[in-house]
Amino acid sequence: MQRTTVQVGPFEVNCPVLAWGDRAWIVDPGAEPDRIAAVLERARLVPEAILLTHGHFDHIGAIPTLQSKWPGLKVYMHPADERVITHPLNSFPPDYPAIGRPANICDVRELEGVHSLKPIFTPGHTPGGMCYFFQDDGLLLSGDTLFAGSVGRTDLPGGDMATLMDSIDALKTLPDETEVVPGHGCATTIGREKASNPFLLRG
Ligand SMILES: [Zn+2]
Ligand SMILES: [Zn+2]
Repeated sequence: MQRTTVQVGPFEVNCPVLAWGDRAWIVDPGAEPDRIAAVLERARLVPEAILLTHGHFDHIGAIPTLQSKWPGLKVYMHPADERVITHPLNSFPPDYPAIGRPANICDVRELEGVHSLKPIFTPGHTPGGMCYFFQDDGLLLSGDTLFAGSVGRTDLPGGDMATLMDSIDALKTLPDETEVVPGHGCATTIGREKASNPFLLRG
């Protein structure tokens, strides 16, 4: 896997572009579609799929532009977060206008095993939160569930702290050397978070 992570938008969402040969997956295209598209075009990559860790506005804002550039591009996510995408409070104009329900939504669990992906259901930050573990690469994309030194907030609509802590427990079973790229901020590893993140130490 080749990986380029673009930080997009005022909320600085990590948008990893993952490539195998000339095929790419775009994870959490939150904003700045032109910068994301430039990464693909520079490397002559054809996007096969958009994957969402969850439906919050800062992770989805570039979807309409990317889908008009590449018609038919599918959006893989957990179905429970479709109503997060369309929730009346899920926008932050003018930077993040509401995008409505994207076209071509698919259940991300269909991608289990493709490129060694293990989709992990991690609700708590949102009802349909997902983390993506690429077994062959030892890489976890943790969305807003796990951050370096912290975990996602649970005070937004659909959030729940006890549920989030159960999801964190599931992530603690991954190998210590697993590289973690969260939805915001620095990369880390499962081992480092188990040793130092207060939310992982308390259970
Ligand atoms: Zn979020
Ligand atoms: Zn976020």
